[in-house]
Amino acid sequence: MTHHINRPHLVVIGNGMAGCRAVEELLARDPNRYRVTIFGAEPHVNYNRIMLSPVLAGEKTFDEIVINPRDWYDGNGIELVPGDSVTGIDRAAQTVTAASGRTVRYDKLLIATGSDPFIIPVPGKDLPGVISFRDMKDVDAMLEAADKGGDAVVIGGGLLGLEAAHGLTLRGMKVTVLHLMPTLMERQLDEAAGWLLKSELESRGQTILTGADTAEILGTDHVEGVKLKDGRVIPASLVVMAVGIRPSTALAREAGLAVGRGIHVDDHMITSDPDVLAVGECVEHDGNVYGLVAPLWEMCRALADGLVEAPTGYRGSVTSTKLKVSGIDLFSAGDFSGGDGAEDIVLRDASRGIYKRVVVKDDRIVGAVLYGDTADGSWYFDLLKKQEDISDLRDLLIFGQAFAQGGGQADPKAAVAALSDDAEICGCNGVSKGEVVACIAKGAASLDAVRTGCKASASCGSCTGLVETLLAVTLGDAVQSGPKTMCKCTSFGHDDVRREIVVQGMRSIPEVMQKLHWSTPDGCSSCRPALNYYLLCALPGDYQDDQQSRFVNERMHANIQKDGTYSVVPRMWGGITSPRELRAIADVVEKYDAPMVKVTGGQRLDIFGIRKEDLPAVWADLNAAGMVSGHAYGKALRTVKTCVGSEWCRFGTQDSTGLGVKLERGFWGSWMPHKFKMAVSGCPRNCAEATIKDFGVVCVDSGYELHVGGNGGIHVRATDLLVKVATEDEAMHYAAAFVQLYREEARYLERTAPWIERVGLQYLKDRIVEDEVARDTLAARFWYSQTFSQDDPWAERVAGDAREQHAHMAAFTPIRTEELA
Ligand SMILES: Cc1cc2nc3c(=O)[nH]c(=O)nc-3n(C[C@H](O)[C@H](O)[C@H](O)COP(=O)(O)OP(=O)(O)OC[C@H]3O[C@@H](n4cnc5c(N)ncnc54)[C@H](O)[C@@H]3O)c2cc1C
Ligand code: SF4
Repeated sequence: MTHHINRPHLVVIGNGMAGCRAVEELLARDPNRYRVTIFGAEPHVNYNRIMLSPVLAGEKTFDEIVINPRDWYDGNGIELVPGDSVTGIDRAAQTVTAASGRTVRYDKLLIATGSDPFIIPVPGKDLPGVISFRDMKDVDAMLEAADKGGDAVVIGGGLLGLEAAHGLTLRGMKVTVLHLMPTLMERQLDEAAGWLLKSELESRGQTILTGADTAEILGTDHVEGVKLKDGRVIPASLVVMAVGIRPSTALAREAGLAVGRGIHVDDHMITSDPDVLAVGECVEHDGNVYGLVAPLWEMCRALADGLVEAPTGYRGSVTSTKLKVSGIDLFSAGDFSGGDGAEDIVLRDASRGIYKRVVVKDDRIVGAVLYGDTADGSWYFDLLKKQEDISDLRDLLIFGQAFAQGGGQADPKAAVAALSDDAEICGCNGVSKGEVVACIAKGAASLDAVRTGCKASASCGSCTGLVETLLAVTLGDAVQSGPKTMCKCTSFGHDDVRREIVVQGMRSIPEVMQKLHWSTPDGCSSCRPALNYYLLCALPGDYQDDQQSRFVNERMHANIQKDGTYSVVPRMWGGITSPRELRAIADVVEKYDAPMVKVTGGQRLDIFGIRKEDLPAVWADLNAAGMVSGHAYGKALRTVKTCVGSEWCRFGTQDSTGLGVKLERGFWGSWMPHKFKMAVSGCPRNCAEATIKDFGVVCVDSGYELHVGGNGGIHVRATDLLVKVATEDEAMHYAAAFVQLYREEARYLERTAPWIERVGLQYLKDRIVEDEVARDTLAARFWYSQTFSQDDPWAERVAGDAREQHAHMAAFTPIRTEELA
């Protein structure tokens, strides 16, 4: 790094959102101008603080919210000093000294120390178990508390408090929110929207107490509860204070810089000392301090322009807010307190839970609150920031941009196309429309490429729809539809939908469609079966299977053939049969005139040519002989193929048939992302072809080799060896863990072979072989779900109300009870 030494030294205090963004902006303008050192009190690289809420809620991991990984610092020659707070600034000597004792000289100093959470000075505030919500350390503390369960009290019903409450609720705590004011988020929402929000949160199980003034935090050596001024006591093992923040100014004040509410800066972010700059939440500009990221992006641009001697100047910011609580759409911007000459335009649609209010003064928008449908938030915000005259649009303004500008016929894309270049698209990362379009112009042709190129939509995802529209508007047909979306009804990908189902505790297909904004009223033939499966997998025993969301073969529990008749395959455990079963099959063939019986590739007998209306009777006859459905049609366990193994074969080392029977009896009935086949071979000669099955066992002298991810279909794929085990019990245990991982993480209609190629064999080994706890919990979840799924669909249909659905529409002949016996 010697070539850096002669450059002026820029020292940054604070490795947070503003400090790093300022450096990014500077590097973009002139990467060689300064040698940069960044001090950070936290022990991490730069991460997206906004996304702590999704980390707490379990929607993101810490790694996913890192903005600049270690490589970024190294690659740009930046020295990062993590976990070391700066404790003093000596302006005369131009040095800073950190807690570790390290002192460095600066040519330019940038203070970006952010804010300190405000702690209300009540008795008990210092008890263990009372924390704020500001950094990763706080999130870790909350997660640790949530692991123990119990009651949490969140003091503060603003943006932060509600996001904390949401996360803790999802983590299983019983949460009470205490808010001093009569309505939630009163600084961002009006009364009506605050009420809608409160009702929604209460319906999710939270207790919201408004007008609640905290008197004392109770407890001796750990927090035990919160006492209100009206005498009420709320039990709590965790108290989160989220009542506000104060610019972190102590260092600057001690260094003799001009400080008011925040560190005073001019339009170029220069403090009262020309060599000291400040940016972010710690500053006061023109009498204002800010607690959101959008202003700091603007400040960082002005700061970097100034550092490269092309000053542009910061003129203050108008802010907007979104609440990052999944399933609640809420947008607020500007001033909606009314007052002289202000007029309200309101739209309420109670049944859809939509409330919109736009406040207009002198034909200009001064404020907007949207609840339930926030699609037009950017448009109102743009009009507000530009102070455009809306008198021509006024009558239709509340219906949104497409309607107001196109009389209801307009292409919704026109709304996005009409946004100005500096309209904000991604609030989390401060990306404007112009920047997204420039990124697309440079070659980003898919959502993923835009996310990588300019970070728009890479964080909370609420602007994904806008980015997709910009792609469509800019590129037309050339947009590469990334692999992500599940189908045309949604902009969410399979993995996102699965995660949201679990995180939001969704329980039905309509609920998923409602909460994730499906663009079609009832979905389509792609998403319905997938959602049905994801819900079945997530809620064993709880979720009611939706037959209408299954393909015809699954609905009929038989395979429809080219002449419209069905084929029926009874299960033959591990390929073994008996005279009674053979007789029952022969009888069915004769009785129902089945023209053909065929031995399948999976060692079973397939009876062809059964008429739809005869299906229940056929099942009844086969059931009577003790046979159950072979799920030959289902996205489920099909066959377990076996060889004769040690019982009969000269080479067999283990009882492969016996293990095959055990596997089939254990695993049948389990719904999977796709069809699933198993096999057990008694020795490496592999007569059961176990190495082209989803799960294959090859017995060897010393035990059992467990193979996964084989496929004998169009693209033949041989299995990968997962692990070798010594006993049958271990083989069963690993099989359960593997199947459950596949059930929980593969996408619907993804067989094990492509799934393993996508995630990598090492991933499976890490989860199932190396991690004993993960293996045990996966297996336990599998066996738990099996307690609900081993119901024979044939028996259910024969007895159930739905049996008539198999009858001819014209000649309706109910099945006689003696036929069912
Ligand atoms: C949970 C949460 C959710 C949020 N959600 C949103 C949202 O949805 N939308 C939005 O716009 N904003 C949101 N915010 C606010 C947003 O995160 C802040 O506006 C933004 O992080 C401010 O950036 P900053 O760099 O000024 O401060 P920070 O990001 O806090 O960075 C300051 C850094 O300086 C370090 N530091 C302080 N003193 C010293 C010292 N003496 N020596 C060394 N290092 C020091 C701190 O440890 C910290 O890492 C949220 C904040 C939180 C906590
Ligand atoms: S795999 Fe081995 S044990 Fe099984 S039938 Fe073939 S040779 Fe015999």
